Amino acid sequence: MGRSSKDKRDIYYRLAKEGGWRARSAFKLLQLQQRFDLFCVSPNVSPNAPPPGVRRAVDLCAAPGSWSQVLSRELRGTPEDPVQVVAVDLQAMAPLPGVVQIQGDITKVSTAQEIQRHFSGRPADLVVCDGAPDVTGLHDLDEYIQAQLLLAALNITTHVLKKGGTFVAKIFRGKDSPLLYSQLRLFFTDVTCAKPRSSRNSSIEAFVVCRNYSPPQGYVPTMDNPLLDPDGVLALSELSGPSRLIVPFVACGDLSAYDPDRTYPLQLSPEQPYRYVPPPTPPIAPPYAAALRRQRGGGPSCKGVGVQGASCEQLGVQGA
Ligand code: SAM
Repeated sequence: MGRSSKDKRDIYYRLAKEGGWRARSAFKLLQLQQRFDLFCVSPNVSPNAPPPGVRRAVDLCAAPGSWSQVLSRELRGTPEDPVQVVAVDLQAMAPLPGVVQIQGDITKVSTAQEIQRHFSGRPADLVVCDGAPDVTGLHDLDEYIQAQLLLAALNITTHVLKKGGTFVAKIFRGKDSPLLYSQLRLFFTDVTCAKPRSSRNSSIEAFVVCRNYSPPQGYVPTMDNPLLDPDGVLALSELSGPSRLIVPFVACGDLSAYDPDRTYPLQLSPEQPYRYVPPPTPPIAPPYAAALRRQRGGGPSCKGVGVQGASCEQLGVQGA
């Protein structure tokens, strides 16, 4: 038995480096895909249609890019209908083959318009969002900000997603989650809350998997809170069921898979001797670069200097 791990560099952090993923979050999307077949489902396929599957995908809050990596590695197109992936983040991201990047804010309508331009006006089949604010540790505040980010992602999704399409987004489970589920159910006929195996049990994080996009009749996409109609009245009355909706909660990912809350020995098996692997893509401008600069007296760059004797180069900061 391993000990419980609070170390951010858990087994999935290590597996991510070994697999060439930019972040451990890659496993969360892979496990969600495994459970929900997110990349294959394409409703309303006629016998003469090309093979079913997601062709146009949007990755909201994408940096450093492991979900975009998953999308570009796993999606299969055809010469007539190739795969297009658009990744959006406030932060710059190192380039990824087959992924178009937009450095922008998901709360802005201009970002939705830019996504539409990249798809030449065609709707997306899938929108994923692993967005998270910088957590404060104050649970109520973190939950609230996360909910606002999720609603912003939903708004942008209503601009770009095709009818019948799928939306996956991170949620912090809390006392207001049922309200969020109700809002999502206004737009999707099928909403499930899922906890991938690679997401720590100790974390309030989970993911909403919303399938079959079917906006209310006459709904005009907007960046305003979809909870409110134009007169500011709660639109939840449109739900036929009780407004505090309970959605299915499923654990996904093979339960024999590694447990992120445990600490494992460096050598995982006798056949697998431990070998250090550096991060596949060092961060371009991580928040800690500014902290390093401040710590060293506010110089314009932290080049060559760092905390506890480590230089920025050693810390893997690009362009510092
Ligand atoms: N899914 C990513 C991956 O696999 O590499 C990790 C995403 S990280 C947990 C959360 C990201 O949300 C951060 O890069 C942050 O910049 C982004 N973010 C937060 N608020 C945002 C906003 N309003 N617009 C765009 N991106 C935002």
